Amino acid sequence: MGQPVRSALRKAGLPVRVYCPVGEMLQGISYLVRRLLENTANQSFLRQAFSQKLPRAYLLQNPAKRLQESSVRPRQGPLPNGEQARERNGVPTPWKGAKNQKSVEDAGIGPFIIEPVFDWSRQEHRTRFADALKKVRESFPLQVLLQIGGNRIQTTSRFESSNPDRADETVGVICSAGIREAELAVAAAKSAFPAWRDTPAERRAEYLFKAAALARLQRYELAALQVFEVGKSWSESDADVCEAIDFLEYYGREMLRYGRPHSMGNLPGETSYLKYEPRGVAVIIAPWNFPMAISTGMSSAAIVTGNTVVYKPASQSPVTGYMLNNIFEEAGLPRGVFNYVPGPGSTIGDALTTHPDVALIAFTGSRDVGLHILAKAHESSDRSSFVKNIVLEMGGKNAIIIDSDADLDEAVLYVIQSAFGYQGQKCSACSRLIVDDEIYDRFMERLEEAARSIDIGPVEFPQNFMGAVIEPSARDKVLRYIEIGKEAGYSLFDRKIQQDNGYFVPLSIFTGVDPESRLAQEEIFGPVLSVIRVKNFDEALQVANGTQYALTGGVLSRSPENIRKARASFRTGNLYINRGCTGAIVGRHPFGGFKMSGLGSKAGGPDYLLYFMIARNIVENTVRRGFAPMEEGG
Ligand code: NAP
Ligand code: MG
Repeated sequence: MGQPVRSALRKAGLPVRVYCPVGEMLQGISYLVRRLLENTANQSFLRQAFSQKLPRAYLLQNPAKRLQESSVRPRQGPLPNGEQARERNGVPTPWKGAKNQKSVEDAGIGPFIIEPVFDWSRQEHRTRFADALKKVRESFPLQVLLQIGGNRIQTTSRFESSNPDRADETVGVICSAGIREAELAVAAAKSAFPAWRDTPAERRAEYLFKAAALARLQRYELAALQVFEVGKSWSESDADVCEAIDFLEYYGREMLRYGRPHSMGNLPGETSYLKYEPRGVAVIIAPWNFPMAISTGMSSAAIVTGNTVVYKPASQSPVTGYMLNNIFEEAGLPRGVFNYVPGPGSTIGDALTTHPDVALIAFTGSRDVGLHILAKAHESSDRSSFVKNIVLEMGGKNAIIIDSDADLDEAVLYVIQSAFGYQGQKCSACSRLIVDDEIYDRFMERLEEAARSIDIGPVEFPQNFMGAVIEPSARDKVLRYIEIGKEAGYSLFDRKIQQDNGYFVPLSIFTGVDPESRLAQEEIFGPVLSVIRVKNFDEALQVANGTQYALTGGVLSRSPENIRKARASFRTGNLYINRGCTGAIVGRHPFGGFKMSGLGSKAGGPDYLLYFMIARNIVENTVRRGFAPMEEGG
């Protein structure tokens, strides 16, 4: 193929290597099929030039420029990771009618660009990460204090955070807040509120940009800490820190947009403005599985909108939460705007969420705790001055559908990453795999081979794709579900590993699972995949929708008809077509579910900040007021 190209390269004096496959018939044919697929793909220049006959000038255009010009059109295909993947995301502007819209660029701040993850093919990143692991480990055990009203507070009661891969390694010793400290923190946040509310939105946004810059300086160390504290692999830890930075940058810009005056209607003689204001004291309750990103996302949304925060990290990741506290402190946030109170949810949780001075709760975690908070928080008393607003993001039981014509090579990689990345401990993780009868045997054979090839072990060693689960109770829960699967008689492929020192569980794939069974209905939060065999795509969709959750879902298919059906009726908060079902990116994939997965908010999307604010409308009759000065922005 490509004889003229070859000759041209030779003429230009460039070295040319022509290669062709040699070997057995079957491999040869699959090689050929792959080339055909590539050349007929919609991004292929061969197809664009010879079939679509697109003009040469268009084909040779700088793709970045082309992207800008066609920014209204959704982009096709997933972007590669790495430094080349820096992407520009336009800041959405839903208020078409709003006057005097200064763009973010006018304010001296560029458009939102995601923080690129490390490209591990570069020696520099590997070396610096290894150095950071060493350095961070030498600082263990870190001593962690509370922070209330700008003061570090010690308590007599303490708890420890340890390394899930090496249970005898203590990462930190943490002062534990009790009810008294929880109440002090709410009081501190309450007294800081009026001044913070009246701080201009641009100033508040600046603190977020400052915090992002500070986090960027410590990327290696922040990620290295997660490797030890929550047992996340190098690249997953890095991605979590990048996402935290993204939230800061994105919500900062979002607040600039919301902070502008929004003029409503255009009746002469009347000005009408819609104005967004904070709600008051916000309690932020975070999970451990994205210990930096989710804590940063919820906290920064509350802060930038003008609320003051009482933040309770999960008890498995308080040290990472402390780093967030330190970043906000270093960014210079006024005292009392962000208060850090680690402590057991079972004792201080209710004190925080039922407190009459709390106006807003943002919670991410399990369904049971979420529903408990919802019920408790809406019990009002004579002392209540708010109907609390609640942002709830809960669990999932996410399915990927493998259609009969899916690209199986790709499908295997996506499923492995989605089901077993971070040991399946992601709310977005794939825990149900729905496979079309026609390709079932072929696909499962490959999936098992791939699962067999994964390295499992302590994630401080970068070759290990999977490490231990977070804590003993998580290990026991996973083992219990494996027993349930065995008792039901489902066949099991598993990979056990010998590691006495950490909370390791076998990678487990159950096949022939009944879609109504507990295994296929309940969130396990570990590396346990239930495979369900279906006759056709319609049945696949029905099974996929058949749980009480609706968080993420995936479809791997080449059929335009089936993809259309999935778009229309695979009802999840985030539906991913022809890619894995984890790894949402701020600004590009607003994230969050409904049904029992949440109340429908979308983290990293254009309406997330609304949940943290109230809108006020101010109308003024300006007729016959003579030389009344116009308000700025009017
Ligand atoms: P969790 O056990 O529900 O804990 C979440 C947070 O709630 C922790 O900070 C916990 O504190 C606190 N808490 C416990 N009891 C409380 C109470 N009575 N009142 C107030 N707070 C209380 O969840 P997790 O194990 O950390 O995280 C895993 C779960 O989160 C999974 O179900 C996963 O699907 C879900 N998740 C959802 C999303 C999403 O975006 N939808 C994202 C990530 C995770 P302690 O640690 O002190 O108990
Ligand atoms: Mg821990």
